[in-house]
Amino acid sequence: MDRYDTLIIGAGPAGLTAGIYLSRARQNVLILDSGSGGGQVTLTHAVANYPGTGETYGYKLASEMKKQAVGFGCEILTNQKIRSMELEADEKIIRTEKGDYSGKTVIVAAGGKPRTLGIDSEKKFQGTGISYCATCDGDFFTDEDIIVVGGGNSALEEAVSLTQYAKSVTIVHQFDHFQGYPHAIKAAEENSKISFMMESIVEDFLGEDTLTGVRVRNKKTNENIELNITGAFILIGYVPGSKPFSGVIELNGRDEIVTDEGMATNLKGVFAAGDIRQKKFRQITTAVSDGTIAALNAMEFMYGADPDKI
Ligand SMILES: Cc1cc2nc3c(=O)[nH]c(=O)nc-3n(C[C@H](O)[C@H](O)[C@H](O)COP(=O)(O)OP(=O)(O)OC[C@H]3O[C@@H](n4cnc5c(N)ncnc54)[C@H](O)[C@@H]3O)c2cc1C
Repeated sequence: MDRYDTLIIGAGPAGLTAGIYLSRARQNVLILDSGSGGGQVTLTHAVANYPGTGETYGYKLASEMKKQAVGFGCEILTNQKIRSMELEADEKIIRTEKGDYSGKTVIVAAGGKPRTLGIDSEKKFQGTGISYCATCDGDFFTDEDIIVVGGGNSALEEAVSLTQYAKSVTIVHQFDHFQGYPHAIKAAEENSKISFMMESIVEDFLGEDTLTGVRVRNKKTNENIELNITGAFILIGYVPGSKPFSGVIELNGRDEIVTDEGMATNLKGVFAAGDIRQKKFRQITTAVSDGTIAALNAMEFMYGADPDKI
């Protein structure tokens, strides 16, 4: 068994930030990632809203974060599938297919991913027309015709916010009514740039190298309509990566890990940070903030409130 001060699960912005703080404070830290690390940031081409970097590339930001963590002595192991974990005792144990590791504290930063439509052409245009984050990518579609897929609060609110940039926004929704709050529905209905295709589903995204259109089918009439658009925001929900922790750590009804504002979970010495936890705004900045708080509170858990340790 390899022993550490802190085990971090997930090498995205939250986990890497926690790794930077803890290893800089001379803690023995291991980050385990089920993939190659870097997190969702690596899925995005351009990142324009992370302070201090201007407009940078997702993979570049992620690799700089990794480099910084490793530079302070943080160990990162990739392609680690968790087999089991024991998180309740003082010595916390995580077993993966490649080894067994123990820590005095654990930070769960396994993130999540946006829910996709699951149609073949969706993958082709991810990052070249299709986005899952209006806050991140809205201004790349200035003066363009775009669609928003979805009918809940985020789809409605983001459609309204996208009208700051886009020439037109068509909301494509599968039902004949929206699931959002009345004020969100009203704001969308009153916006002159927004039009609606109700009881409609996206059948295909069209284009050679970049997105140029979408084929939408009306569920009631079976009519297919092609729209010329250059952007599609798919805002149909979010899937937290919390499955391995179900029954181990307290989750809410949306499968997000419940924490207090210090990132503490219901288990002593176990913290959660970033997109995996219950919160409203999922951004790199908020993940980094969570990672910082989780790391500092993990330190406090191990040593008490000793500021000289940080
Ligand atoms: C396409 C796209 C574009 C985006 N663009 C922007 C943007 O421009 N600006 C912005 O601020 N935000 C953007 N975001 C959101 C931002 O990327 C996330 O909010 C942020 O990455 C969350 O960080 P995180 O560390 O909490 O989780 P993640 O980034 O999801 O990282 C989690 C890590 O945990 C690993 N993991 C998952 N499950 C396990 C497991 N069981 N065991 C071990 N490891 C596991 C994953 O492999 C991953 O590396 C974008 C998101 C997407 C999807």
